[in-house]
Amino acid sequence: MIDKFTDRPHNVLNNTLQDLLMKPDYLQSSKSSLKASMDYHLRCSLCKEASSKECRDLFLATAFSLRDQMTEKILETERRYQQAKAKRVYYLSMEFLIGRLLGDALHNLGLIDVCRNVLADAGIDIEEVQEQENDAGLGNGGLGRLAACFLDSMATLSIAGFGYGIHYEYGLFKQEIDNGYQKEKPDNWLAEFNPWEIKRTDEKCIVPIYGRIEHFQDRAGDYNPMWLDWKVIMGIPFDTPVVGYGGKTVNWLRLYGAGSSTDFDIQIFNEGDYFRAVEQKVASETITKMLYPLDTLKSGKELRLVQEYFLVACSLRDIVRRYLKDHENFDRFPHAVAIQMNDTHPSLAVAELMRLLVDEYALPWDHAWELTQKTLAYTNHTILSEALEKWPVSLLEQVIPRHLQIIYEINARFLQKVTYLHPGNVDLLRRMSLIEEGENKQVRMAHLAMVGSHSINGVSALHTDILKKNNFADFHAMWPDRFVNITNGITQRRWLLKANPQLAQLISKTIGDAWITDLSQLKRLEPYADEPAFQKEFRKIKLANKERLGGTISRTAWITVNPESLFDVHVKRIHEYKRQLLKVMHIIYEYLRIIRGEKKHTVARTFIFAGKAAPGYWVAKQMIKLIHNVGQVINSDKRVQDALKIVFLPDYRVSLAEKIIPAADLSEQISMAGTEASGTGNMKFMLNGALTAGTLDGANVEMLEEVGAENIFIFGLKAEEIAEMERKSSYRPTEYYHRHPEIRLVIDAFRDNVFSPSEPGLFQWIYHRFMNEEDYYFHLPDFISYIRVQEKIEKEYRNTASWTKKAILNIARSGKFSSDRAVSEYAGLIWNTESVKEG
Ligand SMILES: *Cc1c(COP(=O)(O)O)cnc(C)c1O
Repeated sequence: MIDKFTDRPHNVLNNTLQDLLMKPDYLQSSKSSLKASMDYHLRCSLCKEASSKECRDLFLATAFSLRDQMTEKILETERRYQQAKAKRVYYLSMEFLIGRLLGDALHNLGLIDVCRNVLADAGIDIEEVQEQENDAGLGNGGLGRLAACFLDSMATLSIAGFGYGIHYEYGLFKQEIDNGYQKEKPDNWLAEFNPWEIKRTDEKCIVPIYGRIEHFQDRAGDYNPMWLDWKVIMGIPFDTPVVGYGGKTVNWLRLYGAGSSTDFDIQIFNEGDYFRAVEQKVASETITKMLYPLDTLKSGKELRLVQEYFLVACSLRDIVRRYLKDHENFDRFPHAVAIQMNDTHPSLAVAELMRLLVDEYALPWDHAWELTQKTLAYTNHTILSEALEKWPVSLLEQVIPRHLQIIYEINARFLQKVTYLHPGNVDLLRRMSLIEEGENKQVRMAHLAMVGSHSINGVSALHTDILKKNNFADFHAMWPDRFVNITNGITQRRWLLKANPQLAQLISKTIGDAWITDLSQLKRLEPYADEPAFQKEFRKIKLANKERLGGTISRTAWITVNPESLFDVHVKRIHEYKRQLLKVMHIIYEYLRIIRGEKKHTVARTFIFAGKAAPGYWVAKQMIKLIHNVGQVINSDKRVQDALKIVFLPDYRVSLAEKIIPAADLSEQISMAGTEASGTGNMKFMLNGALTAGTLDGANVEMLEEVGAENIFIFGLKAEEIAEMERKSSYRPTEYYHRHPEIRLVIDAFRDNVFSPSEPGLFQWIYHRFMNEEDYYFHLPDFISYIRVQEKIEKEYRNTASWTKKAILNIARSGKFSSDRAVSEYAGLIWNTESVKEG
């Protein structure tokens, strides 16, 4: 078959890969060779019979076989980078929310069909083998997932880009539900062995920490402080290959685990204090024990600060070591190296790079500062004040005294510049200072990151705008050119090709497979949007995905759902600003109206929630309980049994998102305008043909621009309107309560224990919040427009052909939201680098 547009054979996926990927002789027998490799690993790596049908064994054998190919390609890729003297990009992030790697690797290496065949010959379903892999949940949510998508895009684009992060022994907690309440269980993701990573003990590094400063002078009489009595932590790298689509480029992600320095333990041993030696070892290892489970919230704990320092110290040592392998001095450092700080978590890089250059390599301060600024760049991810990192000066003094000194020096020089530009403006100095004055002085990490970078970017047009106008207005006035916007993106390889293989196939069959590496190609689906045959295929696939999710729902939430109903999905971390409560209020409204006979139900809906709450975040945990209780009442009420169903799927994570998103009809992106910096969940749904109910927040604004107003359901106040109401303190929840019977109906239900009949009072705090004028996230001003837009959705859903057309147009117009586009923009606007392609 020939593709209408390109005259390329339909089976391009395999053909291009065959040309691209491997030596022909290898390819001709790719099936038998994969089989041989798996047999080898079953016997020699796992000590099992080659005939083993254990899915766990087969998972490991497949993973080892792929890793063999990938490690070889890492070396090839490295030779290519060396030859091209490629600029290296280092993406520093405390989080990489990777999920499973097997399916991704199979797709990117072009071996998915081959592997499926090999396993099928043994009577094994490849899906079952994939289920064996534990998610690498080394992140909380969007920020960590973005880092994972960027790795995939950098490798696919053949950019010499590498991730640096932490090798947490325990990832984000596993969520269980007990009587409607969240229970956290440790995520011991490494317990069953991780076949992807390579521990590189030979490249370990030593990091000093704690101690004190002695104020010496050098021979010339200049101030020469000495950092003394420090302890040491050992950083041990674990490398995971990151294979780009087509398999040509394989980069890596380096995660550091903390260990104790054996040298120093031996010293204590020799003192005869065995217990203290072991204690120190345990204390060191604690540093990378666990990911802090806080999404858009800061921790303030010493151990978290140590983690952040540990990441930066290990990474920069490694980066400098690599650089010095082929450079005599640091003059070309910013030409050879770009470092991106994913939020402020790695912003100590500013101080640590200065310390390395000045203290260890004896560069003059001004030269070191120029190099530091030209090398580092900072991505801001949130404007929520509870997430803006500040560390007490007293804590820094204790943990990293030399860095604190350096931060003070940076600040003194910076404030001098501000004074020169704005003499006498004390207020401005106070606002811009890296140090927040007060009883307990604090270091403002965002200010440190901004002052030490040549580029500051927000993650959607609206968010960058808000940064420039509000939060960082002083900095923007000083350095307008330093601010850029780069709207987030997602990788279509994972979120369409892998997560929704049937839809991917339909798309490739229709327009060819170039979209896999060029998502703008999806535009060519537009002519098919109202073609009945294509619509029918699309609906068939959507239904199949819904049936599959229905299976997951019945297995994990014990609820039977109707796959023909509208799947209305709100999945993401639980946070007040994301307004799960607004969704619940809509459900309650629908329910009460139906049982009061005020509304005949016309469209059956299944409301699907999932998401974790930070363990100490009471309101978020209450939301989970509320969703369960509302579900219990509604799901067991015969009067609405054909109309409404509520599901909470436990343990939201990447592999679960991959099952939920392809099955969604409606995507809920209903944060209070001005709070969600970008969102990436919104993009995943759009790419999979869900329509969005959303506020004008984050990247929703750009989704509207791309897809057109008739294909998205926008409601609610705009960010400026909310900001204005906040400025004037003009919002009174009780006024809305008294003015709108719809609002009273819902809020009174909280007061009257409708959803907690056996635990009276349980949700009255919600009622009181509104009555006490404490609706910080503006639920009520948006409620009426939300229920109106939901009525419109219901009406439009009943027109299947028109709904399907909109869904297909959403896919067709989602090209902008590829992380390939985002990474290309970083490469051009910030990193000043480009693809390093073969030959
Ligand atoms: C994409 C993703 C997120 C981010 O979702 P938002 O809706 O943008 O907050 C969080 N968690 C997981 C597992 C994801 O895949």
